[in-house]
Amino acid sequence: MFKKILIANRGEIALRIQRACREMGVKSVVVYSEADRDAKYVKLADEAVCIGPAASAQSYLNMPAIISTAEVTDAEAIHPGYGFLSENADFAERVEQSGFTFIGPTPESIRLMGDKVSAKQAMIKSGVPCVPGSEGALPDDPKEIIRQGRAVGYPVIIKAAGGGGGRGMRVVHTEAALLHAVQTTRSEAGAAFGNPAVYMEKFLENPRHIEIQVMADQHKNAVWLGERDCSMQRRHQKIIEEAPAPGIPRRVIEKIGDRCAAACKRIGYRGAGTFEFLYENGEFYFIEMNTRVQVEHPVTELVTGIDIVQMQIRVAAGEKLPFAQRQIQMHGHAIECRINAEDPYKFTPSPGRITAWHAPGGPGVRVDSHAYTNYFVPPNYDSMIGKIITHGDTRDQAVARMRIALSETVVEGILTNIPLHRELMVDAKFVEGGTSIHYLEGWMSQHKR
Ligand code: ADP
Repeated sequence: MFKKILIANRGEIALRIQRACREMGVKSVVVYSEADRDAKYVKLADEAVCIGPAASAQSYLNMPAIISTAEVTDAEAIHPGYGFLSENADFAERVEQSGFTFIGPTPESIRLMGDKVSAKQAMIKSGVPCVPGSEGALPDDPKEIIRQGRAVGYPVIIKAAGGGGGRGMRVVHTEAALLHAVQTTRSEAGAAFGNPAVYMEKFLENPRHIEIQVMADQHKNAVWLGERDCSMQRRHQKIIEEAPAPGIPRRVIEKIGDRCAAACKRIGYRGAGTFEFLYENGEFYFIEMNTRVQVEHPVTELVTGIDIVQMQIRVAAGEKLPFAQRQIQMHGHAIECRINAEDPYKFTPSPGRITAWHAPGGPGVRVDSHAYTNYFVPPNYDSMIGKIITHGDTRDQAVARMRIALSETVVEGILTNIPLHRELMVDAKFVEGGTSIHYLEGWMSQHKR
């Protein structure tokens, strides 16, 4: 096992990784930007090094600064968390070339899955079902684009091969709008992701977002740790996640889970990963793979009892997975609400000083957050300030516990989306379970204020 790990991230996930290290007796070094000087995880870390100003490009995305910090602090491995450099194959490569262990998959796997076009091709070869769409990236020839649009059938969605975070996507309802949409998505993708390649998928009208958590070691073992339903989304971004997915028969989930584990073995995957699917009319369609820990990993931890972050560290250190597929069992139900510093109904960010913070507690309640009273939420980063996760024997119990937890939570001084979560937890359709990815948008337009 490593003696010391550098955490190349911030916020709640930096704290989460630090807790995993501490439990395993591993020392942790955190890097931080000037804007995060007063963050809780910086104070709690064994060592903390300021690596640059607030702007991510000069701090959390600054590869030379991060790698030299690992050198001077004698860290042996680097955990990238999520976001920032976590899915950057060049970073993973530089980490390994500098003699450190990257806590994640190989640069080759990150590269393969980071390009959504090559990822889909690899999945088709591995027998994982994909959303019907263009044959790879779209060509330049307008006639050929039109032909492929007709073959796929409208509506279609144009997506950036290098896209992420719900950005770089455009829905097209008619042939007349196609070429212009391809053009705009291409130039946006070039500017935002440094890769102008775009592809086309059938736009599914009423799917759910279901994903499979996988974990693989370096000894050719791979398992899947159940599924998560992340259909409650705003602007293609998740705000509520749960495990298991309500109302989907176990044998249907098992079939797709086994395929994901088999695909991991086929591509030589190592570490934690997530296969994301759209699920409609009883069928799964792969959309992308995330080659890192996910924001929503706690719901899986609560139902499986497996510490995903510790497992990432163990397999990176070369340990074998301590369980076989048949030993993995799901107990009860877990729900996560992402708490964002934002206007609950307009979604505009609301950074600033938290004048009062009270986290909920009680049976089956977990809070992963770096916030505290008097914490200043910097405007420079993602608006998520924490996650409330509840667990119960049944979905009803997990929902009831979430209602209580949200009623106890106090955040003052900034706006948060807690009022929205409170309303959704008593919404009849949410309580029933199984809503589609478009449900929240529809709900918002009916609850205009
Ligand atoms: P990102 O990497 O930006 O998260 P994804 O490919 O995972 O992009 O898609 C994010 C979300 O966009 C999905 O959860 C879903 O809500 C929507 N989406 C993506 N592809 C489709 C599609 N073919 N049909 C309908 N919705 C889609």
